[in-house]
Amino acid sequence: TAGVVVVGAGQAGLQLAASLREAGYADPITLLGDEVDLPYQRPPLSKAYLADKITAAGLELRPAAYFSEYRIAHRACMRVTGIDRPGRRVLCANGEALAYDHLVLATGARNRALPVPGAELAGVYQLRGRADADRLKAALVAARSVAIVGAGFIGLEFAGICAARGLAVTVIEAAERPMARSVSAETAAFFTRAHGEAGIQFLFGAGVVAIEGEGKAEAVRLRDGTRVAADLVLVGIGVVPNQELAEAAGLSVDGGIRVDTFLATDDPAISAIGDCARAPSRFADGAQVRIESVQNALDQGRCLAARLTGRPAVFDAVPWFWSDQGPHKLQIAGLSTPGDASVARPVPAGACVFRFRDDRLSAVETVDRPGDHMAARRILAQGGGLTPAEAADPARDLKALAT
Ligand code: FAD
Repeated sequence: TAGVVVVGAGQAGLQLAASLREAGYADPITLLGDEVDLPYQRPPLSKAYLADKITAAGLELRPAAYFSEYRIAHRACMRVTGIDRPGRRVLCANGEALAYDHLVLATGARNRALPVPGAELAGVYQLRGRADADRLKAALVAARSVAIVGAGFIGLEFAGICAARGLAVTVIEAAERPMARSVSAETAAFFTRAHGEAGIQFLFGAGVVAIEGEGKAEAVRLRDGTRVAADLVLVGIGVVPNQELAEAAGLSVDGGIRVDTFLATDDPAISAIGDCARAPSRFADGAQVRIESVQNALDQGRCLAARLTGRPAVFDAVPWFWSDQGPHKLQIAGLSTPGDASVARPVPAGACVFRFRDDRLSAVETVDRPGDHMAARRILAQGGGLTPAEAADPARDLKALAT
């Protein structure tokens, strides 16, 4: 028997493999990844690893011995280029064809390219993999001034690290506030103020038209003519899902590989999990969502492993996320949309903002309040039965409301 073949040896693919073994799955498991490394975690790439607080070995999700002990065949530098659905085989760039009983697509996402002249200049960086982080670390040694295109999570985490190193940092953002797709105006304002106090300069409502320089990036040119001088430019303007394999194989894709509530594609022998997958979610009123987070990758890996070992269950995990920016920890439980109402609870330190859609709790954003975040996750798991009045009242203990 061919067993389970996983394309993508990242956070989701490895968790699936590990959970299959924990559930007693005895057939072969093959984990195909196109990177050189053992499966590793990405969050520290813009945090502790970039700040030289942990080494490359500290990124690894499991030590090398784990893979032999649990008979998980991890193949590095193995790029899958096609799926032969009738033949139940994947085709690899090196000419190999590998048979599967069940195929799992866990291909993740890649960075969106900045479509302006000069984006290919030396000195312009993106951050997704360990190789990117290593290039960025090397460039930081000599950098004095940094321009960051995009005030999303990665841009702001990088900004915080650069500011702590004493670099001049300018963050350029098309929207009128940071993290506009992901957090409330209140939480965005907290971070605009905190980063501003750390010396980071923001340019909002700013369109980048070019990156300029003689052989190497020297400045970012904006639509209104402004020239932001920088000897290092980081582009962090979001990601696109790696869905081409699925698309070429005739599976439905639509801003992600479409799966049902059991994480199955339209081919019952193929599933998709993690950043590449778009699944219906009760936290989005049943709409299909593609979520980019470690929690989603891990929980989808576990959910699929349960189905493949005879315990099918719909995917129903509460989404949650974190981002470390400067000295602050942002945590988000649930899933908001930009139009959701906000209720800010007065707190002595950090921030606590509840989001409501049609008077139902959709998400809770907290800053430096891990206890409130944990309580929020429980409240959302139980159906989010919290009123705006309870949310606003600091005398109503969240832990008590969660039980
Ligand atoms: P990935 O981890 O991207 O793994 C997919 C793998 O598949 C990759 O190795 C890719 O190279 C490989 N692959 C793709 N196509 C092929 C192919 N055809 N053949 C073979 N291999 C292929 N999330 C949080 O929750 N909190 C954070 O603080 C946070 N910080 C982050 C910081 C950074 C710098 C980055 C980049 C991400 C961060 N994330 C964070 C997001 C989180 O890392 C991702 O959501 C998570 O890694 C998704 O796991 P995945 O397995 O779906 O994809």
